[in-house]
Amino acid sequence: MECSHKKISKKKVQKEIFNMIFETKTSVCDNCGAYLRDRGYEKKYMHWLEELYKTRRNKFQTQCYFSKNLIRCAEAYLEDYPGISTTIFIRGLVTVYFNIIDRDAKKSARLELLLDNEIYNSFSNDKDRKKVNIQFKPKMIIELMAISELLEIGPSIVVEEVVLKLMTAITSQDKKLREFWENEIRGYLDMFLKAA
Ligand SMILES: [Zn+2]
Repeated sequence: MECSHKKISKKKVQKEIFNMIFETKTSVCDNCGAYLRDRGYEKKYMHWLEELYKTRRNKFQTQCYFSKNLIRCAEAYLEDYPGISTTIFIRGLVTVYFNIIDRDAKKSARLELLLDNEIYNSFSNDKDRKKVNIQFKPKMIIELMAISELLEIGPSIVVEEVVLKLMTAITSQDKKLREFWENEIRGYLDMFLKAA
């Protein structure tokens, strides 16, 4: 039976993020131990992250490994975008994925359906990889951590998978996938890259 969290007390709780510890008091259920994160908790957490971001920006990054072939494809794509580095581009892909595709059930289902497995696997199985550190802002980090906790995989893996999916859409010759990319996604990425 699910606990209805009837008996609650304020307790000190800790949360680990990128090897740093956030500590605060919040409501905890006496019976099952669940943290009932209220708005005060979320606010303090966000504030803590933002303060940290000012001084320790280098902590706000995921260390990813990408196929060198994928990086070459990204560089080729960026020939039309002078001044944009691959790391900014990758951050753009992740931002667009979470803000545009993941929040839209129709778009995300469509991407999964159309995904060109042959290309996806060629990126994913490539053993020749390069390490890339991608920096994110606190808001994006919170989103990444939430997804990573939900899927029980590290935030770097979440980023790698998102980038693989979108790079597959960018490089595929499949007509439907290309159309989906060009008509429904590309404009958002262009907007991000223009603002970068
Ligand atoms: Zn409970």
